[in-house]
Amino acid sequence: MSDNDAMGANLQQPNPVPITVIGGYLGAGKTTLINRLLAQPTMPAGTAVLVNDFGDINIDAALIKSASPDGQVIGLSNGCICCSISDDLSKALDQLSNLPLQRVIMETSGVAEPARVWQHCHYPGFTPQALIVVVDAENFRSQSKDKYVGQLVNAQVDQADLLIVSKMDHNPAFQLRRLTAQLTTTDPSLLATVLGWTRRHPLTATLSTTKTASFAARTWYQQQALSLEELYALLDRQAEGVYRIKGWVEITAGIMQVDRVGERLTLKPMEDRPVPAQLGLVFICST
Ligand SMILES: [Zn+2]
Repeated sequence: MSDNDAMGANLQQPNPVPITVIGGYLGAGKTTLINRLLAQPTMPAGTAVLVNDFGDINIDAALIKSASPDGQVIGLSNGCICCSISDDLSKALDQLSNLPLQRVIMETSGVAEPARVWQHCHYPGFTPQALIVVVDAENFRSQSKDKYVGQLVNAQVDQADLLIVSKMDHNPAFQLRRLTAQLTTTDPSLLATVLGWTRRHPLTATLSTTKTASFAARTWYQQQALSLEELYALLDRQAEGVYRIKGWVEITAGIMQVDRVGERLTLKPMEDRPVPAQLGLVFICST
């Protein structure tokens, strides 16, 4: 894109649509945070949500869509918007630029570097507003010391304009040394703070040129219902080198939403929520 193109677009739309980027490592609680924001009665109209799932099942986008049936939700799957599918991001922004939008909330993949995503948000008609990073109080300490993913997890925190701490209930004593202020996901001022947060200085973060960890997503597509024991056996077989497991599985008792972050496995019955289009599990692992 030439400078002239950018100027032309700015002339058409003098107020570019702000993009609030929500990042954080795999399983930190980005989708939960966005669903919590969307559930607020004061959520402004004209908000679109872009959701980047690293795996090839659009799990987070589906979860957000079910929380926001009227909202504009676009899922970008099968890669990371900061490094492998930035063309898809451009297409999605083109699609959104035809709508009367006030703002975009963008959920990055768990392996994205927020500063790289920020660069992609300088796009005709749009402007990046703030990098919000969700920090997992339960798992941050071990992840940040991990020899494979530690550098990425620390870079995500270093690049943030605002850190939001999740899962404090699992680790109430959690503290990050360099933080001057903390906001938890249950704070009543969460929505106003997140949407109002604006980066004050140009982004100067140094991007990591050598990645210490590279990730791959494998998908297991479910063909037939499993017993609960078979599901546990499947999850156990896949435990080594896997950082995150998520998806939907049909067991004898019904369809379960499956989520494993670190050692913690959560199985949630779908009950009367809409049945997902694709049953299966995405395993995100190191390569
Ligand atoms: Zn990336």
